[in-house]
Amino acid sequence: MDLIDKLREIVGERVSAAPTERLCYSSDASQVKGMPDYVVRPISTEEVSKVVALAADFSVPVTARGAGTGLAGGAVAVCGGIVLDMSGMNRILEMDLANLQVIVEPGVVQARLNEALKPHGFFFPPDPGSSAICTIGGLIANNGSGMRCVKYGTTKSYVLDLEVVLADGRVIRTGSRMLKSAAGYDLTRLFIGSEGTLGIITKAGLRVMPLPKARRLVMASFEDAEAAGRAVAKTFASGIVPSACEILDRTTIAVLRRCDPNLVLPEGDVILFEVDGTKGSTKESAEEIARICSPIAAEVMIASGEKEMEEIWEARRLVGAAVSRLDPTKSRIYVGEDVGVPIKMIPALIREIGEISERFDLPAMKYGHIGDGNLHVALFIDVLDEDEWTRLEAAADAIHRAAIRLGGTVSSEHGIGAARAGYMKMQWDEGTLSVMRSIKKALDPKGILNPGKLGLFESPSSSSGGD
Ligand SMILES: Cc1cc2nc3c(=O)[nH]c(=O)nc-3n(C[C@H](O)[C@H](O)[C@H](O)COP(=O)(O)OP(=O)(O)OC[C@H]3O[C@@H](n4cnc5c(N)ncnc54)[C@H](O)[C@@H]3O)c2cc1C
Repeated sequence: MDLIDKLREIVGERVSAAPTERLCYSSDASQVKGMPDYVVRPISTEEVSKVVALAADFSVPVTARGAGTGLAGGAVAVCGGIVLDMSGMNRILEMDLANLQVIVEPGVVQARLNEALKPHGFFFPPDPGSSAICTIGGLIANNGSGMRCVKYGTTKSYVLDLEVVLADGRVIRTGSRMLKSAAGYDLTRLFIGSEGTLGIITKAGLRVMPLPKARRLVMASFEDAEAAGRAVAKTFASGIVPSACEILDRTTIAVLRRCDPNLVLPEGDVILFEVDGTKGSTKESAEEIARICSPIAAEVMIASGEKEMEEIWEARRLVGAAVSRLDPTKSRIYVGEDVGVPIKMIPALIREIGEISERFDLPAMKYGHIGDGNLHVALFIDVLDEDEWTRLEAAADAIHRAAIRLGGTVSSEHGIGAARAGYMKMQWDEGTLSVMRSIKKALDPKGILNPGKLGLFESPSSSSGGD
């Protein structure tokens, strides 16, 4: 019996080898491409377990996929094989709010979880720009984060327990309902950020937080991005931990204005600080941040109320869509877009990215979660111009190397996937990489789970071959 017939025995008609369908799964939001041989849509842990066990028998790669919004090619089957579309496992199984947690399937979309929590006065803090579409499984597998992670931490701070299907089809649990536990290796953390290379997440116990009572926003604009970076470093050094701390550089502001000339944002390089807590504590912190920024900033203001605050955040959320307005002849390419450095190195990183953009004569927008040292760099090219592609790759390489040299990381939240696999050897020494390889070999001896990712091994080719 062929593999497809055996897959049909497990999931019925929820398997396809049709070229049109496979094409739909051959990319994510990055430049990475790879055609799977089969698309399988499981709806239960039992189905995932049987599919993975079968794939192990046939030595066929298995790549888990959430919503495919990843920016590093993580969900792309670069070695062919099976793509497991986990978006059908999308139930919120339990709201155990007395224990400050929820139990969900991996295909639940982030924003839907927060919509369900809001009436109860709770929220799940990791808030990526893609929250309206990305899944909890994808967030856990990438250890994703967002604007509020500067105070609340990244996804890893909120995962208490995982149900995982291992590479031979066994199903394990990695944690419990305890908010803390000191019993043995922390397997939950091992699977977080493993990008589907160690196991397939089929259930997650997540910690949730009470919604804050009050929020305030301080907006400051600066003559240059370096000064903005200095203001951020000074704010943190004062002991204030903002609940969000975002940068929009002057290019980003100019592009946003092309989208909406009535925007509430000032000229220059802008930092948005949000603080949350009680009415009194947020007032005090906002005033303190304004005081710290004033000597460095061109302009500082505290949003007058909820409405003005929302208008400003609305403008920040426009960035993703607005990038296309920089120059209609150029397209944004997601490379070198997610570097991070320790907070005090931010001014140096900003300066280096400015120099790189000039050296390679490529426009660059800089925006992102500057409060945790994470800068999103948007580089633009004319995609029909080969020379611009060459300069783009060289510029992205220089950005990655600058981040490593400054003690940072090539990815703060989007993951390594296939796009950044080549940088693992630069970011980690051989001893560390050898431990990662040992873990991978122990859990996935045949190397069937998401091969070609994380740059730990040379990519094996699929037994059935992609096209
Ligand atoms: C406009 C835009 C804005 C974004 N903003 C942010 C941001 O602010 N912060 C941020 O962190 N990211 C951001 N991202 C990137 C992306 O949304 C995140 O990486 C997200 O976590 C991916 O979720 P997904 O469901 O789309 O996963 P996919 O892209 O489908 O997969 C991502 C990785 O997770 C693995 N995976 C998926 N499901 C499972 C599972 N059940 N078990 C095991 N492995 C699994 C895949 O194999 C892959 O390696 C943004 C993307 C876009 C397009």
